Amino acid sequence: MALFDSHCHLDFPHFDDDRTQVVARMAEAGVGGALLVSVDLDHMERLQSCCREYPGFSYSLGLHPNHEVEREPDQQTLLALARRYPEIVAIGETGLDYFRHRVDPEVQKRRFRAHIETAQALRLPVIIHMRDADADTLAILREYQPVCGVMHCFSSTMAAAEEALGFGMYISFSGNVTFKRNDALREVAKAVPLGRLLIETDSPYLAPVPMRGKRNEPTFVAHVAARIAETRGIPVAELAAATTANAKALFKMP
Ligand SMILES: [Zn+2]
Ligand SMILES: [Zn+2]
Repeated sequence: MALFDSHCHLDFPHFDDDRTQVVARMAEAGVGGALLVSVDLDHMERLQSCCREYPGFSYSLGLHPNHEVEREPDQQTLLALARRYPEIVAIGETGLDYFRHRVDPEVQKRRFRAHIETAQALRLPVIIHMRDADADTLAILREYQPVCGVMHCFSSTMAAAEEALGFGMYISFSGNVTFKRNDALREVAKAVPLGRLLIETDSPYLAPVPMRGKRNEPTFVAHVAARIAETRGIPVAELAAATTANAKALFKMP
C-alpha cells in the first residue's frame, strides 16, 4: 500500500529532534511521500533542504492567510521566489481564514489574489486554506476560473464541497474526518468522487483518532485513509491507490 500525505509541515521545528526517525516510520507504514506546504516566505530554504534530503518529498511556495508579515508580498515577489525555488509543485497555502483575525480580511483577500495570479502565471495548482470564510473564498475562486488546486483540510459543508468540485478542485481531508462528532464531514468525504479525493495530516497539528492529543506526523495519514475507506465501504488499498494517483496527477510528481 502506498499512501501519500498531501499536506504536512515536516520542516517545522516540531520535528527538529527526530525528523529522520519520523521519515523512517513513514516508510514502515507505507507512506511513500509527502507534500511539505509553505506557510511563510522566510523558510523556503528549510523546505528545500528537507526535500533534497529525503526522497519522496515535494514542497510548495506560499504565505498563509493568517500569518502576519511586515511587507505584503505582491505578485512580482512571489514570481521572483518561484524562480529561486524551481522545484516547487504548487502555490500555497493561501486562501482566507476568518477564524482568528490576525490579518485583516481585506489584506487576506489581496494576498489570496496575488497567490492565484502567480499560480496561473506559472501553471501551478493552488493549495487553498478556507476557514470560516466559505462565501468569500468561493467568490474569489469563481472570479478566476479556471483554477486548479485543492481545498486542503476541508471542514465545511456539502454545498461548499460541491461548488469547489464544480470549479474542478480536489478536496483533501485531514484528521478531523476521524473525529467522533464529525458525521456530517464524513458524509462529504463519502460524496466526493474518488478521482478528486486527497488525504493529508496537516501535521504537526490535528492528529487523527486514535492519536488525538499527540504530535501529528505523516505516518498518521493511514488513519485518515482507513476512516474514509470505511465510510465509503471500499478497501483501504483502493483508497490509498486512488488518493496517491490523484496527488501525483495534481502536483505533476513522478
Ligand atoms: Zn491550512
Ligand atoms: Zn497547513
